Amino acid sequence: MTATLVPQMQTSRESIVLPPPQLSAVAIEKAYRKGSHQVPVLRGVDITLRKGELVSIIGQSGSGKSTLLHLIGLLDTPDVGEVLLDGQRIDDLPARTRDEIRNRVFGFVFQFYHLLPELNLMENVLSPLMIRHSVWSYWQRRREFQDRAKEILQKVGLSHRLTHRPSELSGGEMQRAAIARSLVARPDVLLADEPTGNLDAGTGQEIIDLLHKLNDQEQLTILMVTHDPLIAEQAHRTVKLCEGRIQLVKEAA
Ligand code: ADP
Ligand code: MG
Repeated sequence: MTATLVPQMQTSRESIVLPPPQLSAVAIEKAYRKGSHQVPVLRGVDITLRKGELVSIIGQSGSGKSTLLHLIGLLDTPDVGEVLLDGQRIDDLPARTRDEIRNRVFGFVFQFYHLLPELNLMENVLSPLMIRHSVWSYWQRRREFQDRAKEILQKVGLSHRLTHRPSELSGGEMQRAAIARSLVARPDVLLADEPTGNLDAGTGQEIIDLLHKLNDQEQLTILMVTHDPLIAEQAHRTVKLCEGRIQLVKEAA
């Protein structure tokens, strides 16, 4: 029997070969204790990201968006369900292993930039590497790390602000710096929780444009929470958290 030839050009969407799942949350449940009873927040959440996808999560305030991001990024553990990275379960590993995976795999960006006020931008961006390496190892590699930080700060448009402190920057610049810091350890997945929540619409769109550029140029996988439907719909896929479950809102054609 002759082998079937795979056509070079595939036109229908069904026949496009997708990359394998990179990160999945499977049947995640999470409840918080309130007084004497448990309040369920996530009631069976399933979501999968493939490498290079940009997915946005919308949902009302209190619907559990941040909770889900924290569980996926190993900042917290689910009551039920699993988090898988490249097909391997990661949520039930020993704490030290989870710390190592969190630092290596995930970059985090939050609504309030959480920059350290007494450090300048270069130092803020370098801070994850200072924390990760021993003093000796950091010192040996400091030139390489400084070059990397400069390159990333250039990528986010802040080359002219290397020695400025956060208090000398605009909100948009602070978020750019926070994004640069999240990228310095070369994460595989960026988790962004309302990254434009504290910015005016124009500045917020600049931050979204930057995230899209990083996604396009570096195939950085991005999972972004936003309450803004105009921002959400620019993603490859938009899902909504509603009553503790995920609904598909929109998938780009
Ligand atoms: P969202 O990000 O969608 O606004 P959150 O994930 O922050 O929602 O919160 C979902 C629900 O869980 C809210 O009712 C919130 O009060 C509750 N919650 C979140 N974190 C905790 C916590 N650490 N302890 C108790 N309740 C929490
Ligand atoms: Mg939130």
